[in-house]
Amino acid sequence: MDKKTLKDVDVKGKRVLVRVDFNVPLEDGTVTDDTRVEAALPTINYLIEQDAKVILMSHLGRPGGEVKEELRLDPVAQVLSNKLEQAVIKTDDTVGDEPQEAISRMETGDVLLLENTRFNPGEKKNDPEFAKQLGQLADIYVNDAFGATHRAHASTAGVADYVDEAAVGFLIQNELETMGQAVKNPGQPFVAIIGGAKVSDKIGVIEALIEKVDALLIGGGMANTFIAAQGYETGDSLLEEDKIDLAKELIEQAEAKGVNLALPVDVVVADDFAADAEHKVVAVDGIEAGWQALDVGPETVKNYSDIINQAETILWNGPMGVFEMDNFAKGTNQVAQALADSDATTIIGGGDSAAAVKKAGLENEMTHISTGGGASLQFFQGKALPAVEALNDK
Ligand code: ADP
Ligand code: MG
Repeated sequence: MDKKTLKDVDVKGKRVLVRVDFNVPLEDGTVTDDTRVEAALPTINYLIEQDAKVILMSHLGRPGGEVKEELRLDPVAQVLSNKLEQAVIKTDDTVGDEPQEAISRMETGDVLLLENTRFNPGEKKNDPEFAKQLGQLADIYVNDAFGATHRAHASTAGVADYVDEAAVGFLIQNELETMGQAVKNPGQPFVAIIGGAKVSDKIGVIEALIEKVDALLIGGGMANTFIAAQGYETGDSLLEEDKIDLAKELIEQAEAKGVNLALPVDVVVADDFAADAEHKVVAVDGIEAGWQALDVGPETVKNYSDIINQAETILWNGPMGVFEMDNFAKGTNQVAQALADSDATTIIGGGDSAAAVKKAGLENEMTHISTGGGASLQFFQGKALPAVEALNDK
């Protein structure tokens, strides 16, 4: 880790502004999944123990640069307060007089949560004025919002220029160290499993991984474009026609590099994109008009499981099928089970993939499940994360 970490800065008695990722799902004002709050606790608890004044900030949803009552962070402050078993001061503004006064009254060990950073139009523009106002609230800045590291916003990047010191928190440190180890120095065979809806979302990661892996297993909606590239009909399946040539090139590239690019040999087709649609397993050359592929089939799962069993390092991004519907979740669940059963280092990236592993009840069986969807994808591609770059070097 070439960036300053939390342990490298003296926080005692200081005002420490921590960018956390409290972008949690809300339903009728209730937090329905508190995983992200939980993930921020190591850093928060450490700062409390070190007698810092802990000032937290996060975005929540997409308020579009204006105040949206339903996207205030009050319910999150409540969840955090319950977990910490101490009061959490919540301000109604993000910057300005109100937070400044509340912060001036803080004692060491106190925790304060600022209002949603995206209520300010300067947040997503990385506006220096807003970044400066944030920086003025604190002495030290700590970024621990891994899920937002791929974006240079005022609260994730710009603010670092307006404090005495800027360091990474424990969550980001853990993400970067665990995934960095796996990606930069993988035990072999190194296998990547890429699925999800669209090839176009994953081109960068496929192109980067093809240089590194021994096998690349393709599933999900994007497999259809590869199936079409092999000359088969795909019926009503999700298909990106303008990416068929790219899929052909990727197949050739893999062959030239000796990478085992594994594609579905059978799929579960349905007569509608619906949970209760009629469905059946067919070979990839048997997808009829009026049917769409919504999951990989059992023969494919068997092939993929054999490759997974041999692997030393496995990177997984993108579900194998429409796992939100039980009838089309089997491929994803069985691949998750194969990962759980293997002795390999298993790294899961991607918001939906992480959700799928949790839904299968296998989250404790994986080496690492990233808290960042887009950020982990960017990291797998070997690209810099701007919000980490913005922090001080050691
Ligand atoms: P991640 O968030 O893990 O990166 P993606 O967002 O790329 O994953 O893809 C997840 C989505 O892909 C899910 O909503 C899933 O329903 C969808 N999906 C998977 N397989 C198919 C398919 N065969 N047809 C249509 N959508 C699919
Ligand atoms: Mg997704």
